[in-house]
Amino acid sequence: MSEEDALLPICKACGTQYPSVRNNCPICEDPRQFVPASGQAWSSLAELSSSSKHTLLPDSEDERDCLIQTEPGFGINQTPFLIQTHAGSYIWDCAAFLSLGLIGHLTTLKQPLRAIAISHPHFFAASLTWSRALKVPLYICEADKEWFQRLDDVRDNDDIRFWSDEEELGPGVKVIQCGGHFSGSSILHWDRLQEPPPPADDLPSRPTPVSGIIFTADTIMVQPTQTMFTFLWSAPNMIPLRPKDVLAIQDRLKSLPYHQATSSWPSRWIRSDAKQVFQESVVAYLAAEGWRVDEQDKLVELIT
Ligand SMILES: [Zn+2]
Ligand SMILES: [Zn+2]
Repeated sequence: MSEEDALLPICKACGTQYPSVRNNCPICEDPRQFVPASGQAWSSLAELSSSSKHTLLPDSEDERDCLIQTEPGFGINQTPFLIQTHAGSYIWDCAAFLSLGLIGHLTTLKQPLRAIAISHPHFFAASLTWSRALKVPLYICEADKEWFQRLDDVRDNDDIRFWSDEEELGPGVKVIQCGGHFSGSSILHWDRLQEPPPPADDLPSRPTPVSGIIFTADTIMVQPTQTMFTFLWSAPNMIPLRPKDVLAIQDRLKSLPYHQATSSWPSRWIRSDAKQVFQESVVAYLAAEGWRVDEQDKLVELIT
């Protein structure tokens, strides 16, 4: 990581890194985030390095999925996923803090890191610095380009790939634009059925899931109950998503094979029948908002 990147200002409330000193944070001023009552405050990677550390939290069921946690929590406590497939590894979403120790770990993985992909602007964080330090492309949905705060700072040798609709990151791994929370809000789908079986002489100590999994970030939120999903336009300000946006997300997921789902936070999993749970969650959400879908897939107001 360059000294220049380590000294750039980072918003303490949301973890977004900026290319130069400024007074405000557009991400926090947007109604989907908030400026704390104590006012706008700044840090930097150089400052964080003296007080922060990373903890890797492999999933209890599938160690190929691993949360990267910053301690103590910073920004909105972003916990990116490290996803290790047979054909390469990927970072889904990003955080502000990046340490030399984490760079060392991520650049010596058994399956080399291939890309960083971000679900939406609340996870842009220090992603350009991560992409530079880890020497992998950074995937950002074109529809959210206006929210990417380091456009003025991009150099010729940076590798930012703006994409739309759907983009394959590697064998079995793709990102899908769903909209809703932000226009470019996305999910990552990993089709674990494409993974080769483990070698007979190196079998895992317990069964490894083989079904499809979606990593949903804030696009589709796993409720704290971990039995249902919900949909929010603004999580911190508790503003629900419009029913037609929920139906658009449902449409995007219609043909996707998945059995499990997780949001981008620890302990937010739907471990089984996630596709069925998703359909039931849409019905429950719409009913709570006063709507149902008729036989022609049109929204109809519930008469109560
Ligand atoms: Zn901010
Ligand atoms: Zn968000």
